[in-house]
Amino acid sequence: MGYVTGVQGLMRDTLLSDGPPIHVLGAGPSGLAAALTANRAGRRVIVHERSSEVGHRFHDDFQGLENWTTDGDVIDELAALGIEPTFDHTPIRETVVFDAHRVHTYRSPQPFLYLVRRGAGEGTLDSSLKAQALARGIEIRFAEAGRPLPERGVVAQGPRGSDAIAVGYIFATHAADGAFGAMSDALAPKGYAYLLMTQGRGTVASCMFDDFHNRSTYLERTVAFFREKVGFDMQNPQRFGGVGSVRVPKTARRGELLFAGEAAGFQDGLWGFGMRYAMLSGSLAARSLVSGRLEDYDRLWGERLGGLLRTGIVNRFIYGKLGALGYRGLAWLLDRASDPRALLGRLYRPSLLTRLLYPMARQSI
Ligand SMILES: Cc1cc2nc3c(=O)[nH]c(=O)nc-3n(C[C@H](O)[C@H](O)[C@H](O)COP(=O)(O)OP(=O)(O)OC[C@H]3O[C@@H](n4cnc5c(N)ncnc54)[C@H](O)[C@@H]3O)c2cc1C
Repeated sequence: MGYVTGVQGLMRDTLLSDGPPIHVLGAGPSGLAAALTANRAGRRVIVHERSSEVGHRFHDDFQGLENWTTDGDVIDELAALGIEPTFDHTPIRETVVFDAHRVHTYRSPQPFLYLVRRGAGEGTLDSSLKAQALARGIEIRFAEAGRPLPERGVVAQGPRGSDAIAVGYIFATHAADGAFGAMSDALAPKGYAYLLMTQGRGTVASCMFDDFHNRSTYLERTVAFFREKVGFDMQNPQRFGGVGSVRVPKTARRGELLFAGEAAGFQDGLWGFGMRYAMLSGSLAARSLVSGRLEDYDRLWGERLGGLLRTGIVNRFIYGKLGALGYRGLAWLLDRASDPRALLGRLYRPSLLTRLLYPMARQSI
């Protein structure tokens, strides 16, 4: 077992309260957000991480930090939680989406999302969170496997199942920057394919919710599709893949353990955007622990994320059932919107329809 404590942190430690340390299992976005929140409240924090580095599930691939479920900007929301945007983040205000029939270009004055990189490399979200944690004196015990948490703490150990998988390549490229999506069961059953390129780096992937067995076929089709439509080059491609799980738990608390991020199933059920929900839920779990009112946690995540989670699952249900018709319908709606970002936000807002469909939709995941 190894552990790291920032020098600045050692000095700050002496100022921290003498109360028992807050324990966090997992140094992903949810665990480190929890650690940063508890630290800001003056508590000593110990993060237990199974791997020898942060971001081991990822390979420097681009992910989208979603920015449409609130009117305000996600970067400001993270800053309010004490997470500084010291990670590389490229705003995406224009995206090109292909369905089976047409190509659609969507633009918005405010970014739809921010491209961030994941993994242990410089400038990734994971490295940035780690550096912020160490600078504040948070202890991260790496390579600590298989140890249950002491009786109370935040469980933030990532997905427990695989409702969706993504497979892709990261690569270097000479192609121009761009963000492209494709909605087609031939490329990504019940999901979507994407090509993201910025500053000479790229990620191309198929994110599917069905037929995982044939993932390699879908990936190769995705690469061929975007090569034909966009015409990009791939230098030194390296394959990656991963799983995600989606649930709306009745409770995210077991005794004195509070579950955050994907360990609780918190992820957008429609497209698998999980980073924002992970950091929000981690921070809310830490708030409840720090206040000593663990019973608040279910209410707090329910208020901030419950409606989004349930609507995401209903959206997935409708999207999956309608297939190509659903993809065209979504594109049709977005084509007509004066601000497609605002329309996406509305699609994630709970309504009477989502409340009615939810009991049926939840059976389908
Ligand atoms: C290929 C792929 C593409 C994705 N694309 C997007 C995207 O574009 N946008 C988006 O928002 N989301 C995306 N996601 C989802 C997003 O990555 C996750 O929702 C997010 O990382 C969840 O954060 P987390 O902290 O809950 O879990 P994780 O990031 O998985 O972190 C969990 C940590 O816990 C550690 N751990 C596990 N078990 C133990 C244990 N027993 N003891 C100690 N430590 C343990 C792990 O090593 C890991 O460091 C994608 C996921 C994948 C796989």
